[in-house]
Amino acid sequence: MAFTRFYAGLSAQQASDFAEIFTRDGATVLTTEDEGTFVLQVTYPDTIVTGNLPGAPTGSAGAGSASPTSAGAAAPPTPDTSWGRLILALRNAPDLRAQQKIACLSQWIVESGRGTSTLGRQYLNFGGIKYRARMEGYATPVDYTASDGEGVYCRFASEEAFIRGYWHFIASGPYEDWEQFRDSAAGYLRHVAPKYAADPQYLEKVLSCFAEAEGLLAGTGAGEAGQVPSRSSFRLAIVVGHNSVGQGANGVAPISRPEFQFNNAVADRMMEEAAHYNVVAKRFNRVHQGSYNEEIRTVYREVDGWGGNCALELHFNALNAESTGTEMLFAVGSTKSRALATRLVSESGWLHLKLRGGDGLKPLQAGDRGYSSVVASRAPTVLTEPFFGSNPRDCLAAASAGEAGLGRAYLRAVRDWATNDMLN
Ligand SMILES: [Zn+2]
Repeated sequence: MAFTRFYAGLSAQQASDFAEIFTRDGATVLTTEDEGTFVLQVTYPDTIVTGNLPGAPTGSAGAGSASPTSAGAAAPPTPDTSWGRLILALRNAPDLRAQQKIACLSQWIVESGRGTSTLGRQYLNFGGIKYRARMEGYATPVDYTASDGEGVYCRFASEEAFIRGYWHFIASGPYEDWEQFRDSAAGYLRHVAPKYAADPQYLEKVLSCFAEAEGLLAGTGAGEAGQVPSRSSFRLAIVVGHNSVGQGANGVAPISRPEFQFNNAVADRMMEEAAHYNVVAKRFNRVHQGSYNEEIRTVYREVDGWGGNCALELHFNALNAESTGTEMLFAVGSTKSRALATRLVSESGWLHLKLRGGDGLKPLQAGDRGYSSVVASRAPTVLTEPFFGSNPRDCLAAASAGEAGLGRAYLRAVRDWATNDMLN
């Protein structure tokens, strides 16, 4: 069943931005104007949504042992194993875009059980790729008994040869228009998954390995070969607003989650990418303990104990469907916190939301909601309210950029503040 959603009340700029994002993601987008505002009709074809397969499997010998829940346990790649060499080679592959690398590595995590399958270890075939005549020159045929029976599979001469071979397998196979998804890992996988693997859950399994793949490619693990250790000692404490008991305001579709869940996902992405911004980031979760003030004091005591140089407490706003905009909250009189908030506001421009109060800066006084958070730590602290979870248009703007986009905006702001303002 095809899947259609309408997004109404958009500005011309939002309509064109979102149309581009959804189109890149594989959807058909129809834009109509309605008295100066724009409506998008976004339709995903059924194969993209359900991951159902129309044809015979051609690619998957899936080891099937990769569990998405063990994502955090991934060891950093080293050149001592073929799996480690594969990741290092993929990082340096010159002709692939970042999203392509995430897409194919997510598949290989699933297909090879993180490099542990016999097919991967013995024949450097991490993609469960069956031999086809079109693979001549890229691989040699080898008999192999996989979970779905005996077959002739590709054997590759090196990790680099496998990477080249995988992309040749796609380019020469029944995956027309795969190049359209060079900059969308999810779009690419929705496009190829139905023909690549027979498992109806394949797409979901692969998509759930994105974070792990990004982490492996970013080299966030310690002590890796080829990885320049970060000399930065700048410490960003990421405090996730609310707690697992009281999860904060609920975001309407397409955020569709309360603050606590959404911002934990943002924190995940920030930790994965912090090293690129020369920042050491650590997440701090508030723990429900009955007393709100004690909950806040406890978590910021941990921040100070860790030596945080600044803290962001992540939230989103909520009031009603019309309330909109971005604002950053900090303690009145704290020059450094204000400077950090100013950086955060200026990086939030990609949301195309209005800045509340004209400049998006909201100094808090004693008694204001959030005040106890922004004065609890020695470190300059900003409480972030980038959008309104109660407003469908705000949620669309936030979801379009995604948790990673929001996390990157925060990281850029923190980096610029650390570089330019922190010592002033
Ligand atoms: Zn909140």
